[in-house]
Amino acid sequence: MTVTEPPSATSDRTHVWQAPDALRRTDPQIADVLAAEAARRRESLQMLAGENTASQAVLAALSGPLVDKYAEGYPGRRHHTGCAAADAAELLAVGRAKELFGADHANVQPYTGTTAMLAAYAALLCPGDRVLAMSLQHGGHLTAGSRANFSGRWFQFTGYGVRRSDGLIDLDQVRDLARRERPKAIVAGGISYPRDIDWAAFREVADEVGAYLIADAAQILGLVAGGVLSSPVPHADVVVGATHKMLRGPRGGLLLCTAELAERLDRAVFPFTQGGPSMHEVAAKAVALQEAAAPEYADYTRAAVDNARTLARDLTEQGLRPLTGGTDTHLVTADVSSLGVSGREAERRCAAVSILLGKCALPYDTAPPAEGSGVRLGTGCVTTQGMGTAEMGEVARLVGRALRDSEGSAELAAEVRGLALRSVPKW
Ligand SMILES: *Cc1c(COP(=O)(O)O)cnc(C)c1O
Repeated sequence: MTVTEPPSATSDRTHVWQAPDALRRTDPQIADVLAAEAARRRESLQMLAGENTASQAVLAALSGPLVDKYAEGYPGRRHHTGCAAADAAELLAVGRAKELFGADHANVQPYTGTTAMLAAYAALLCPGDRVLAMSLQHGGHLTAGSRANFSGRWFQFTGYGVRRSDGLIDLDQVRDLARRERPKAIVAGGISYPRDIDWAAFREVADEVGAYLIADAAQILGLVAGGVLSSPVPHADVVVGATHKMLRGPRGGLLLCTAELAERLDRAVFPFTQGGPSMHEVAAKAVALQEAAAPEYADYTRAAVDNARTLARDLTEQGLRPLTGGTDTHLVTADVSSLGVSGREAERRCAAVSILLGKCALPYDTAPPAEGSGVRLGTGCVTTQGMGTAEMGEVARLVGRALRDSEGSAELAAEVRGLALRSVPKW
């Protein structure tokens, strides 16, 4: 009798990606481009808040045979034939998502977080409806009503913000605006809000005015899976997630909702906003969701938050001012203006020595939006890479030196590279 090993929920991230022979033979130019990108990632500090590092298992599923499959529709009711494997992969992904988040229903087909938001709006709203969401200046995503995005064009948005005094969401303002505007939906969540969100309080406001509650949890859903942040699932009508951020899966979106809304949400994804699903991504999402159910993943999310808290504290010593004074997440949003640089210049100076972080406008920012006064950092990648709180002290000192150095010194760049190469991927 053969004994099958239980599947390993974590998988090797210690590799340095190499172009497979088939790619090298057929297209050496693209093989070189990809190899250079792999080296860049390995040799620099990846602090962009929305990025992470997918496992070998996720990459393998992405390059598997489902890349070729057309499977419009849903398991058991496809518009194409030959969908046995597509159905099996999607049922695994949906089942794992429901189990991991305790949701009645999951849709794993959205191509990205943005198309998942589009589908959430399409399921609940009609063009012209009013929506209350975090204003873009205060950390709302483009889908929270940017005029450059479908959301701002097709719906009437009102923005709520954070308090000037402590940087926290002002729930009194949310309630006042909801009473005044009577929105059809309220969106809770954003791209740079570093604190746990009181989903129950948002639910109460939504119920008072008869609005749907959409949780935009794209940035933080992995932290919910790991149990370090409170879950929007019991409170929101629809939860929007992205699978490539803290969840460490393939690029893609994920939707969770109540049983009551399941049919409407599925139809809002296909056929309303999308065509055939990317079934290789669906298979890779299943892999990532299995990985995220393992105890090691919960440890990883705790480590990412510990790292972010330490980083916020140590950046304060470097003269940056973290919004809200710290973080509950993997994110640190910090004001750099006291160092005499804009967010844009801070981003440039850090990039010059291979520290990749993002510029951002801050709530109540007086700098032009293209400049901004802040930077946003995330600990998703560096934690995956095996760094702990000791290394965060070093990262903060390197960031501090980079911000004071307009030239991008070779010595500093060498230290950054040394730190990046020294860490041994652990999760
Ligand atoms: C990343 C993100 C999105 C959009 O996800 P994409 O996959 O980039 O389209 C939406 N909302 C929030 C809060 C995000 O962080």
